[in-house]
Amino acid sequence: MELIFPSNIYCMCCERPIDSKMPYSLCGHCVRIVQWVDGNSCSKCGKPLYNYGSDTCKDCSLSNREFKRGFTTVRYSRLERDIIHQFKYRDRSYYGEKLAELMYERILSEDIDADLILPVPMYKLKERRRGYNQAGLLARALARNLDKPYYPDLLIRNLDTRPMSSLGAEERKKNLEGAFSVDGDKAHIIKDKTILLVDDIFTTGSTVNACSEALRKFGAASVYVLTFAAGS
Ligand SMILES: [Zn+2]
Ligand SMILES: [Zn+2]
Repeated sequence: MELIFPSNIYCMCCERPIDSKMPYSLCGHCVRIVQWVDGNSCSKCGKPLYNYGSDTCKDCSLSNREFKRGFTTVRYSRLERDIIHQFKYRDRSYYGEKLAELMYERILSEDIDADLILPVPMYKLKERRRGYNQAGLLARALARNLDKPYYPDLLIRNLDTRPMSSLGAEERKKNLEGAFSVDGDKAHIIKDKTILLVDDIFTTGSTVNACSEALRKFGAASVYVLTFAAGS
């Protein structure tokens, strides 16, 4: 595939041809407008903060987090949304490798020693329809870069939850009740382990929170979260 459709010659955002020496498959224009997450982010979940004065976001100050800390790479705004849209709905599964490179560099700057890498799982039927779980592609590439084991099917999504964007906080919580569990045959793998949980987007964090809750219930020591983009 790489020979027929080399993934490095077109920009992930604007699809203009790019110089093969450019890192990250972004053209010179787009690499400048990507909004990298800087120091002004929530000390708990990693989401960019829009106003100074507090070191945690509203969601973290209002609700209990089951994960230890979250990290993200870019702010979720228009350009970043376009990249993720291409990745998820336009069959650009090879973007996974490119985005994971950026996430790898992000997590390297943190002092996290995870034992294993897991993706936020997709409902199986949905995954079959799309052909891939985008979080799985990110997690797999990251695990390879970090030289850590990757388990795509350890955490299970039991329910095809409703899209969360239209729901309020209470509804989100209800929507996710019982949504995730751990494969009983593999539960020993996470016992007392530190897990790096990977997803593409972080908004309120209710999905990764529900995943972390299930992992801890099944014996994981702690869960860190890494996403490509975060924002409201
Ligand atoms: Zn571009
Ligand atoms: Zn937060």
